[in-house]
Amino acid sequence: MNIKGNLIIISGPSGAGKGTVCKAILDSMTDLHLSISATTRPKRVGERAGADYFFVSKPAFEAMIAGDGLLEWANVYGQYYGTPVEPVVKAVEQGRDVIMEIDVQGALQIRKKFPGCVLIFLAPPSRSTLEQRLRNRATDSDEEIERRLKWAEGEMQKVEFYDYLVLNDEVENAVRKVANIINAERCRPARLDMESLMQQYRNK
Ligand code: 5GP
Repeated sequence: MNIKGNLIIISGPSGAGKGTVCKAILDSMTDLHLSISATTRPKRVGERAGADYFFVSKPAFEAMIAGDGLLEWANVYGQYYGTPVEPVVKAVEQGRDVIMEIDVQGALQIRKKFPGCVLIFLAPPSRSTLEQRLRNRATDSDEEIERRLKWAEGEMQKVEFYDYLVLNDEVENAVRKVANIINAERCRPARLDMESLMQQYRNK
């Protein structure tokens, strides 16, 4: 059967645990393709160029926009973030589902272009948990943490546009729920090649 891959979008406030959940999902569902974003924000300690992000200059990012090289892009916390289009198209053409960890603005752009995409919102169980996670991560300044908490308020208002809301109380629970969603989405008749399936019955 010739089944094209789907786009699985994971959004949620910074500190909701998107990275951890995505990593665990990719470990357990090895047929998924992870989209690596481009960004103009500086590399954090421990991050690897080409694996966590493609770290690019502002002019390079603007050239990608001008050249239609991005599936979506947004300005988040004053920095550019965007999804390079080519690897996504290639994976989807090969029938692989693509997982993308992007912000709400980007998710809504993808929904406009591909109404069949799956939007999953990952949220912390409470605001205080979010604040604690951001502080424990110790990768951002106090000022940056305040900015991310403020931004989180606006992002939480956008849950209504998503297909699913997963509360990340325990990582294993959240991972199981996201995997269940991906598997359920794969069973939708609209996602399957019904034509060739039904052909087998018509010919009998
Ligand atoms: P961070 O700087 O913490 O890695 O990411 C900041 C925010 O940017 C997160 O909400 C993350 O989901 C979002 N983000 C990462 N990559 C992309 C992307 O390619 N497009 C969009 N629109 N947002 C992204």
